[in-house]
Order: sequence, then structure tokens, then C-alpha cells
Amino acid sequence: MGDPGVSADRPRVLILGGGFAGVGAAKKLEKADAEVVLVDRHDYHTFQPLLYQLATGLLETTAVGHSLRDLLERQENTSVHKGTVNAIDLDAREVRFEELAPLTYDYLVLGLGAEVNFFGTEGTEEHAYPMYTLPNAVRLKDHLLERWEAAERDPSIVEDGALNVVIVGGGPTGVETAGAVAELYRADFAGDYPSLPQEEAHISLVEAGPALFSMFKPKIREYTAKALADRTVEVRTGATVASVSPTRVTLNSGEELKAHTLVWGAGLQGNRLVQSLGLELERGNRIGVGPDLAVPSHPEVYALGDIAAIVDEKTEQVLPQLGSVALQSGEHAGESIARKLAGKDTKPFAYKDKGTMAAIGRRAAVVQMLGGKTMTGTKAQLAWATVHLALLPTNEDRAKAVVDWAGATFSHQRVGRITVESE
Ligand SMILES: Cc1cc2nc3c(=O)[nH]c(=O)nc-3n(C[C@H](O)[C@H](O)[C@H](O)COP(=O)(O)OP(=O)(O)OC[C@H]3O[C@@H](n4cnc5c(N)ncnc54)[C@H](O)[C@@H]3O)c2cc1C
Repeated sequence: MGDPGVSADRPRVLILGGGFAGVGAAKKLEKADAEVVLVDRHDYHTFQPLLYQLATGLLETTAVGHSLRDLLERQENTSVHKGTVNAIDLDAREVRFEELAPLTYDYLVLGLGAEVNFFGTEGTEEHAYPMYTLPNAVRLKDHLLERWEAAERDPSIVEDGALNVVIVGGGPTGVETAGAVAELYRADFAGDYPSLPQEEAHISLVEAGPALFSMFKPKIREYTAKALADRTVEVRTGATVASVSPTRVTLNSGEELKAHTLVWGAGLQGNRLVQSLGLELERGNRIGVGPDLAVPSHPEVYALGDIAAIVDEKTEQVLPQLGSVALQSGEHAGESIARKLAGKDTKPFAYKDKGTMAAIGRRAAVVQMLGGKTMTGTKAQLAWATVHLALLPTNEDRAKAVVDWAGATFSHQRVGRITVESE
């Protein structure tokens, strides 16, 4: 990488990761007297909460991925680089990359997020469809479309489970994906592929625990079970996936499900780079931080969002891995660094709860606030849409999402159900 073009006598704030946390921090450093450098392995910011909508054709790629350079180009003190972090030396204050020259820093912002955890389940690395990155979502969409096209050419493969989908994980990712796949099948594919038997295309949601949505109140769990049943999703609780092959999913009980698609929404772990930092890690490979979000042994290093275990000052619980936690923690760290650079005091982080929520389908969503207040149905869907629109990075993205959601709500139209093959 060439010199980012900013004078070397200014302190450098190096931000690793252009997710909610990294972008939130960068934006709050706009006016800081510093050289701000943001590096991400991709040239885009991924809006993970809407990946399932990309995978099911509701949204297009550019509604879920936004150019990082575009997001930050108006910030004169900031440069964006595409590069993969290989190693971080906290003592030497240096970061090494796969494709770029090493960079030293005065302040480091760790916003590298989490990654999929298959828990070593046999066959998952090769055959499962995880739902954590933009390429994951596009791959799943292309695969579903390919299976329906293949079945139209040769209907005998339906019997082998070509159209069946097993989704693993009864948390928000699994439930939202199951609801969306069901609506894609029953509303869109029913019209797109009239010769294929919908009743033989099964969507199963598998959860190891005794119920879906363990983090929600019983009222919400009951609502969710009904909303999924109404959408023809078959829920199997108390079941664990033992192995997966291209056409079969085997449960721990020995039962074999015919399915050419296994979607994995069952687990996350902190980015594996954290293991090399020499820090004591909290549950789920997350970095423990102090009330100001800095790493106690390295006050010039901030860990934010999914990579961090941030304790809520009110409840004294570790905050969940949510977009709003990542964005707010990023903004807080950006502000704190800017204040420190200006010789001012900083304040402890105070999370403003936006609720835990999930959208199961058209007019079906659930919301639970930290205090325990709940909402379901259309009201919850409006709350869900409001919170997610606020998290989207620009007004153009918000406008695109509103148009596509309106199309889907009123006419079941899923504009993105096309495959773009490389030639
Ligand atoms: C499928 C799904 C659905 C979700 N739904 C919701 C929801 O409805 N509501 C909600 O609030 N939250 C939701 N979440 C959680 C939310 O998306 C995360 O909490 C949030 O994205 C975390 O932000 P972050 O900035 O910490 O990490 P991320 O958004 O993961 O960003 C990390 C960035 O680091 C980059 N990176 C990683 N490793 C490297 C490396 N070695 N080198 C360079 N760059 C690297 C990545 O490319 C990425 O851009 C969902 C998550 C998933 C996966």
C-alpha cells in the first residue's frame, strides 16, 4: 500500500473491519486531527441482518453490500484499503496484512466481527450453506434456483430431496431464513415452476434445544411456532445434525433427511485472529473490554461489536452480538478516540437498547426489549423495519430496501430471484 497521503506527524488510528463497528468508529473520527485508515478484506460493508433477504431474492446485492470507499470518501482524514489482516502485534503496535505493507498505529480499533462455527460437524465445511457473508447468501440463492431449474428438467430428482431444505439453528438467523425460504417457495416458485409439486418441497428447521428462540419469552416462542407452521415450515426441536452430504442430512438420532440443501445458522465464534493476540478471551472467543470499550491491558486498543464481550452497565450482562450493539460501540469508540486526541475526558459506554427482534415473514415479526416488553405481528414488523432502516448506512440504501419490501409485501414480488453466472 502506498502512503495513504496524510502527514506522518499526525497520530494514526487504524480500524480493522468495515462492519457496523468499524464504519461507526470511522464516521465519528471525521473531524479528529488524525490519520484514519480503515482496512477490510472486502471493498464493501456487509449488512448481515438482511443476508437472508438476499439469499431468498427479496433484496439485490447492492442493498446488502455497500462500497466502503463510497461510505467514507467525503472524510478527508480517512483512507480505505482492501486487505486481509494476517497478524496483529499488540506490543509492537503493528498489523500485518496478506496483500499490504505492515502498518503501525497509535490507536487500534478491532472490528473484525465473528465467523461461522460448525462445531466440527462432519461434512459441513464442504456441503453446508452458512449465512454470514455476502458470498454465502449469493451462493445459497444460486443453489436454490439451480435445484428448481434442475428439477424442472428432471422431476425425478424431487423424490431424492432436490427441493428440500434443512435449516439448522432455532435463533433469529435460522428462523428468519426458514420463513423467507418458505415464502419464496410457496409464493414465488409456485408460480415460477407450476409443473413442480410444492407439497413435495419440504422446509425443515432443526434446533438442538427444546424450543426455538430460547432468548425470547414463551409468548413469542408460541407466536413464532405458529407463524412458521402457517408457512409450512416443519420444526424439529431436540434434534442435532450429526453429518451432511450433498444430498442427505443425518441427525444424531440416526434419522436421515433427504435434502440437497443444508443452511447453517447455528453458531458463531469470534474472529479466529483473536486467539493470536495473547489476551485472555471470554466465552465465544470474544475479547473482554473495560467500560470505555478499550482492552484493559492495552488502553490504545478498542474491541467493538461481535468480536468483543461488552458488559451492559445497566444489566451487568454481556450484550448480544447485534448490529445496534456493534454500531453504537463503534460510534462510542470513535468519539472516545477523538476526545482523547483533543485532550478531553471520555465517558463509559452506555448501550441504548433497540430490542432483540426477528422478521419471520410478511406481516409476521417479533420484538422483545431488554426490559421484557414484547410485540408481535404487523406492529413488530414496523418496529423491525424502523430499526433496520436506521442501521442501513445511507439514505439510498434505505430507499432501495423500502421499495423492495413494499413490492414483496403487496405483491410477493422478489426482484432478485435471478442467477448471474460467470461466463
Ligand atoms: C445472518 C445474520 C443475521 C443477523 N440479523 C441481525 C438482526 O436482525 N439485527 C441485528 O441487530 N443484528 C443481526 N445480526 C448481527 C449483526 O449483523 C452483527 O452483530 C454485526 O454485523 C456485527 O458487526 P461488527 O462490525 O462487529 O462485525 P461485522 O459486521 O461482521 O464486520 C466485520 C468486518 O471485518 C472484516 N474482516 C473479518 N476478518 C477480516 C480479516 N482477517 N481481514 C480484514 N477484514 C476482515 C469483514 O469483512 C467484515 O466487513 C445478524 C447476523 C447475521 C450473521
